[in-house]
Amino acid sequence: MSAPSAPSAPAAPPPYEEEQTKRNEAPQESAMYPDVNGSTHQGPFMPSNTAAVVYQILPTTPTVAICPVCKETITTRVKYSNGTFTYVMTFLCGLFFLCCCIPLCCRGFKDVNHFCPKCKAFIGMNRRI
Ligand SMILES: [Zn+2]
Repeated sequence: MSAPSAPSAPAAPPPYEEEQTKRNEAPQESAMYPDVNGSTHQGPFMPSNTAAVVYQILPTTPTVAICPVCKETITTRVKYSNGTFTYVMTFLCGLFFLCCCIPLCCRGFKDVNHFCPKCKAFIGMNRRI
């Protein structure tokens, strides 16, 4: 009579320390971010444009401000540009006064953009609408 073979015991799990070592070797998923092209790069996620520029709403005349680029106190240089209000008034003047070019010639109808006189950086704007 043959002795009944004992069922083979399942392999013992690896000791705890070995398991920890394997986990540490595995690449950490939190350090990998998908790129725009689908490829991945390691390291902390840094958006390409980290400089957040907050534009100020400034008056319509040159004003004293701190330039966000060169960090100096300057009196802004203003440039007038046609904006939404300019074109709305052009339409209305053309409709009622049959002379649509008045708002295009008057600064009072235009948007005002402020620039730094030293580094020429855009600082802020004043929109009529
Ligand atoms: Zn500046």
